[in-house]
Order: sequence, then structure tokens, then C-alpha cells
Amino acid sequence: MDETRSHWLATVERFRRAPHEPDDGQMWSRSLETAGRDELRAIQDEKLRAAVPYAYECIPFYRQRFDAIGLAPADIASVDDLGLIPLTTKQDMAADLAEYPPWGSYTAVDDATWLERGWQTFMTSGTTTGPRMFRYTDFDRRTWEWANARAMWAMGFRPGRDVALIAFGYGPHVWLWGVHHAMNLMGIPIVTAGGLSSAMRARLIESARPTILACTPSYALYLATLMRDIGIDPAASSVQYLFCAGEPALSVPATRARLERVWGAQLHEFYGCTEAAPTAGAFTCAEITAEKDTTVSMHVADDTHIWEVVDPVTDAPVDDGVRGISVVTNLLSEASPQLRFVVGDYTALTRERCACGRTHTRALGGFQGRADDMLNVRGVTLLPTSVEDAVRSVTGVGDEYAIEITTENELDVLTVRVEAMPGTDEALLAAAVHREVRSRCELRPVVEVLAHGTLPPTERKARRVTDLRCVGSTQP
Ligand SMILES: [Zn+2]
Repeated sequence: MDETRSHWLATVERFRRAPHEPDDGQMWSRSLETAGRDELRAIQDEKLRAAVPYAYECIPFYRQRFDAIGLAPADIASVDDLGLIPLTTKQDMAADLAEYPPWGSYTAVDDATWLERGWQTFMTSGTTTGPRMFRYTDFDRRTWEWANARAMWAMGFRPGRDVALIAFGYGPHVWLWGVHHAMNLMGIPIVTAGGLSSAMRARLIESARPTILACTPSYALYLATLMRDIGIDPAASSVQYLFCAGEPALSVPATRARLERVWGAQLHEFYGCTEAAPTAGAFTCAEITAEKDTTVSMHVADDTHIWEVVDPVTDAPVDDGVRGISVVTNLLSEASPQLRFVVGDYTALTRERCACGRTHTRALGGFQGRADDMLNVRGVTLLPTSVEDAVRSVTGVGDEYAIEITTENELDVLTVRVEAMPGTDEALLAAAVHREVRSRCELRPVVEVLAHGTLPPTERKARRVTDLRCVGSTQP
């Protein structure tokens, strides 16, 4: 192994405190979780000084980008210099992949490394630029399980008490495998539910009595309905924690409230991406989820990532408290230590200490959906999650909904289709949905109320927006 790679891996390892078990009942790695801001910054600086030469020498994509603007690895001495590195977008990766299939040149894993140290391949969902595959190494497996265990410990998951049912297909998703291995490290048993029907999963919740249900938010609502249909009350089940991924839920107040109500459980989330933050780049803690009346937030892990928020138009970093889109530099990975990768979700950062005692940066409001999903309707820009929040805030509306945008007389028309629960007055429901969408989105929608069970049930990640203004364009 070459020297730069060895130095990088040794640096990551040196800061992987409490790699195998928690320090105490509250913190997996107390010295990292409660480190002062100066110490966290010093850790970031030192890791960055190892990561940048590594990326330059072992990742052709970054070498080419640095050379193109005359930037040398030694120019990046601390976090203060981070802005000298150009942002990398999904589109940049897609273009690179087209030139260097099948892996792209933005990875530190070549064929020899893969055969010597390879662990698993993972794939992006490909909603924006088509799916991309990543090869991760056994070193990454160990850092993933550790970083995720720290986050799940903060949520309050504990061995000796908790059992997790993972209702995901065991496909190439970073979240699923990262959670699976972290549960193993923590000693929390897993009820394996990949490949089982939803009816079988509903019965498993009764028989195996999991305390943690891990799935997408849409699936949690779908499974709750299915359980009620067969006479099981999800709120009276053993499930105490909904551990969701794949779609925003915590950051959509009405969706969060609905999930927690139907399951009688606390909602927790990880945040990250396959390319640059496959572990818990951000996560909830028990104190954040216990609070129901204030704006939510998520901890970002400062010692394993550098999170920035930038202006979506100018790309310039914005001040703390100002909304922009998320950018991440990975300080943890052998295979994919990306520098300033644009994940692209809206959020704002705060350095204020959390009630749980953790000192790391937090993302205020959580992460509110990708900038790529932003819709422009009659000059008003909105995230589909704003419509979701409006729809789900109305009592009597079913869990499924759909958004369609069309053109009529050269004007955009936003149609929101919802389902009425049996026994609900449809006219009143339509008026309430109209009012809520209008107040959140400043648009007058056309509201269509359908009978319950009309819209196709969402069993996985939901695709709810159809934009018919451009033929063939369907946005996620
Ligand atoms: Zn906290």
C-alpha cells in the first residue's frame, strides 16, 4: 500500500475512538461527542491535511481538477482553505462516469484494491443522473458500523432491550447495510424481513415484537394501514422507534406527526448519500425527538465529515442560520473520500449545543428535500414536501397523495389528488387541503378528492410528482 493511503487510513483510525463499544450509557464515544468546538476544528484540520493528498494521489478525478486550476494539495492547510476546492456535483460525476465506465475516476478503489480489500458495491438511486455504482472496502465497513452505532446510540437504541425489524429489501443501499452492520456491532438482534410480504411483516411485528422498525416513511404508513386492515393496532404494537430513511419525514411536520401518532413511536432519521456520506452524516438524538413543539434539528458528525451550506445560485458558503443547500467533505472513507460534494438538500446550520450534551454542529429543520426536486409553478418555487406537509396536516386525508403539474392556456396548473378516509365530507376536505396548500405554497391548487384506496399504495420510496409540462419528464 502506498504511503499516502497508509497515512490517510492511519489518521482515520487514530480518531476512531471507542471503535468497538460505547464509553458509557449516554455516549458511544464521549470524548468525541462532547469535544469542544476548537478540538473538533483541530480534528477536521488534521484529517483534511491527510485526506486531500490522498484524494489527489489516489483519485484521478481530483488530481485532474486540482491540476486544472493550479491547486496543490499543500494549499489546503485547514478548513479555512476548503473553499479553494471546487464543488463536485452529481452531474460532474455522471459526466466522469460516461468517460470512465463502469466506476468513474472519482473513486480511490481500483481493480487491484478491490480484489485485495473490497467489501461490497452500492448504488445510488439514480433519480437525478442515473444510477452510479460504488465499490467500498472492508476498511469502510468498519468505519460505517462504528459511525452508525454512535448515531443509533444517540437515538437511544440499546442492546439487551431493543430488537430491530428491518423492512427493506437487502439491495445495494448504503443505509440498509450500514444499519445492519451497526446493529451487529451494538449487539441489537435483527428480525430479517427483506423479501417478505407486507402481510408477513405485519405478523412478524406481532410475533417477534421488535422495538425498532426500520423502513421508508411511506412504507411505515402503508404497513400501519395494512395492519389495521387485518385487525392489528400499530400504536399498540411493540414498536417504540420508527427509524426512517429514503425520504424526508422528520423535516415535514405533518408527516412526522402522522407517523408518530399511528405508530405511537418516536421518529428517528439518518441523513447522508451514497457518494460521500454513506454513514450517518447527520442523525437525530433522543432529546431532539422528545421535543414536539419546537423546530427539529439533526446532529451532523463534525469529526467524520465537514458539512457546509452554500447558496444554491452563487455556490458561496452562507452564514450559520441561513438556508442553503448541503455540501459534504468526507473524513472517514477509504473508497470515497469526496471533497465538497453537493448533496443538495435545503437546511441551515447552528453550532449551539444540543440538550443531549453533544457539541457538534446541527442542521436546523433537518434536511428538507433536494434542490433537484424543487418545482417552479407559475414562478413560485416550492418543494414537494411543502405540499405533503399541507396534505397531511388535514384530518380525514388518507396517507397517499399525488401531485400533477400541467399547462392550461399557457398557465401552470398544480393539481393535488388526495384520498378521503371513509365517512369524511369530501367538499370540506377539498376546501381544507386547498387552504393548507395555499398558505404554505402561495399557490391555488386544483384539489381532487378520491375514494380511499384509489391511488396506488406506496410500498417503497414514494414517487408522487408528475410534471406533464415537458413530455416524458417525471420528477421524483
Ligand atoms: Zn442531541
